[in-house]
Amino acid sequence: ENEDLKLLLLENISQDAVKAFRAQGFHVDHSTKAMSEDELVEKIGSYHAIGIRSKTKITERVIKSASKLLVIGCFCIGTNQVDLITAAKAGIPVFNSPFSNSRSVAELVISEIVALSRQYFERGWEMRNAIWNKQSKGCWEVRGKTLGIVGYGHIGSQLSVLAEAFGMRVLFYDVVNIMPLGSARQVESLETLLSEADFVTLHVPELPETTNMISAEQLAQMKSGSYLINNARGRVVDIPALIDALRSKHLAGAAIDVYPAEPSSNGAPFDNSLNKWASALQSLPNVILTPHIGGSTEEAQTMIGEEVSAALSRYLNYGATVGAVNFPEVDLRAITAEQGGHVRICHVHNNIPGVLRQVNEVLSPYNVEKQYSDSKGDTAYLMADIADVSPHDINKLRELISRTNANILT
Ligand code: NAD
Repeated sequence: ENEDLKLLLLENISQDAVKAFRAQGFHVDHSTKAMSEDELVEKIGSYHAIGIRSKTKITERVIKSASKLLVIGCFCIGTNQVDLITAAKAGIPVFNSPFSNSRSVAELVISEIVALSRQYFERGWEMRNAIWNKQSKGCWEVRGKTLGIVGYGHIGSQLSVLAEAFGMRVLFYDVVNIMPLGSARQVESLETLLSEADFVTLHVPELPETTNMISAEQLAQMKSGSYLINNARGRVVDIPALIDALRSKHLAGAAIDVYPAEPSSNGAPFDNSLNKWASALQSLPNVILTPHIGGSTEEAQTMIGEEVSAALSRYLNYGATVGAVNFPEVDLRAITAEQGGHVRICHVHNNIPGVLRQVNEVLSPYNVEKQYSDSKGDTAYLMADIADVSPHDINKLRELISRTNANILT
């Protein structure tokens, strides 16, 4: 039945995704460009699913015009470009790909540890300025040094394995108790980690508790001659305090990939008009500054395409919302081909009392094999698999469920 479903893929989403959707029978329209709000308002009404990257904005006005839209796929990490609350209220789950670039970030950090330790960024700049400066003072092997990982999630734990393979000793600090990989050791406080590590690397999300998590007090707790690496989010480090710690030579170097304010496009200046300390940071030696490239690899792009396409297909084919950012996460084991006559009811509704009772009254004459429901904010979602349903029954059920209270879609 998928040929009735129309997908709009914008911003040059990979041809692999287009092929995969077409192979499942979906009608796919593909464009290499983003669409403006006005264009979307005009076109989106005929589509059941849309795939975008970061440039297409799905605003409240767009969602109000999207009368058939069932699902939104963000083929990227962030979802700020979508009005998530309005989408959830309209019964539209939004999927993204938050962890497809974890390995890419971990590998960048490994390269930064060596680069800082050997000062080769600085030496490289000197060579470009015709200066030959061969020296070993203050240059170290990383073998036997201690890496302190703050945040032992997808990226932090990958990094732990890579760093141990290099012969480093790994400590980590996390708000959750996590089984250490290899010989890594979890420490009880950030202060312990800071006072023992030769390299401190940050891998926490941006939250009120992590804003300025590393400021003057924490930098003072770090070992003299140690290094700070931030590939997490710009606001996690108090950069003026970091500049002071580097100027006083308390820290031997830093690598920064993320900033409180970042240019919106390539070619835009990164200067004091954006972050007032930019030139002070740029003038410091042994500081590696990169333009938020931690996750930017060909492999990560491919994995994003695969992951988001799979999530859209699972939702359109089976109603599964596991991994949705704005929606209750609901799934049941897939119905197999042998289970003919089985039907899956996917009922998205407002999260108010009484709806489940009404839906279950409608389902009560049938053999409900499995049922699961959950809610998030104002949106609730019930999934039920029922046995031995005739085509006539299916239409009757559809009709009855659509008459239940506060129904968004079935
Ligand atoms: P994750 O959710 O898998 O892991 C985050 C970890 O931080 C979790 O284990 C969590 O318990 C821990 N944590 C949360 N609050 C904490 C606190 N106050 N103190 C200590 N630990 C805390 O996330 P991830 O995928 O590993 O990503 C980590 C960060 O990296 C995110 O901020 C993400 O945005 C950023 N990131 C950056 C790039 C880049 O291009 N530079 C790419 C991908 C991700």
